[in-house]
Amino acid sequence: MGKLLIVGTLAFDAIESPFGKTDKILGGAATFIGLAASKFQVDSAIVSVVGDDFPQEYLDLLTNRNIDISGVEIVQGGKTFFWSGKYHNDMNTRDTLVTELNTLADFNPIVPEDYKNADIVMLGNLHPSIQMGVINQLSTRPKLIVLDTMNFWMDNALDELIEVIKHIDVITINDEEARQLTGEYSLVTAAEKISAMGPKYVVIKKGEHGALLFDEKNIFFAPALPLKEVFDPTGAGDTFAGGFSGYLASTENISFENMKNAIIHGSNLASFCVEKFGTERMQSLKKEEVEERLHQFKALTQFDIEIK
Ligand code: AMP
Repeated sequence: MGKLLIVGTLAFDAIESPFGKTDKILGGAATFIGLAASKFQVDSAIVSVVGDDFPQEYLDLLTNRNIDISGVEIVQGGKTFFWSGKYHNDMNTRDTLVTELNTLADFNPIVPEDYKNADIVMLGNLHPSIQMGVINQLSTRPKLIVLDTMNFWMDNALDELIEVIKHIDVITINDEEARQLTGEYSLVTAAEKISAMGPKYVVIKKGEHGALLFDEKNIFFAPALPLKEVFDPTGAGDTFAGGFSGYLASTENISFENMKNAIIHGSNLASFCVEKFGTERMQSLKKEEVEERLHQFKALTQFDIEIK
């Protein structure tokens, strides 16, 4: 069983989609990553920050899934990171309405002693300087450092983002962001350009259109499972990253072949995340449901063609 260190936001989210609207509910990149990774046999820990307005029950939800939260700082008198977004009718695109960094603005991450030698480090979406601050505290080079980010940091901290990208092995990024980062329309060219910035592996997430995995020589594609109901895509990217890194940490095998399986596990878990608002579906998700859908994934993508 491998050790997985997760960094990212613990947040309040307010979401509007064509299906309704929520008040402040539990969100954050680290929350979704942690919930997804907990579906695998891993020891995991979250490094993050919240204010004293963050309910104890949200922290309990993580510890009940065996996630070590000793690296979560609670700032007395501080306010938790808040994000609000509105989805368009296609549910694949959204506008950010509000990003309040609050306690995240001057957060100095502290990696728990036990996790300085983590096998896999999952740098979830937050300020690239914080992501770098975590890398700098590691005592041994992890087998794999995975980084997820978003357009907000490209707009607000591009130099720091480019710096941290030099130190990682895998980047997970969505199609629009890959284009923004490189100025390239072709995702193949964008992946090549991103790889030249540092990471050996580039994962491009395309929402309901699946995900692509690139290394120097190979490309692998996994579709997203076609779903009848998509309620709220928030957290799908983080859930994907949590499934991807959680599976790799549990198998302790970082070959390209095994990364293909990791992509499928990530996509599979993300397909549940979008079925309800916020973390609701991930909280109720059962092992049997995950397995059943993996079979559907296999059936969806398997074919036997004769090529002469
Ligand atoms: P995703 O839908 O996977 O891109 O992730 C959505 C989650 O990311 C939400 O729960 C937000 O709280 C969180 N989030 C939104 N903007 C940011 C940001 N700039 N930095 C870190 N986390 C963010």
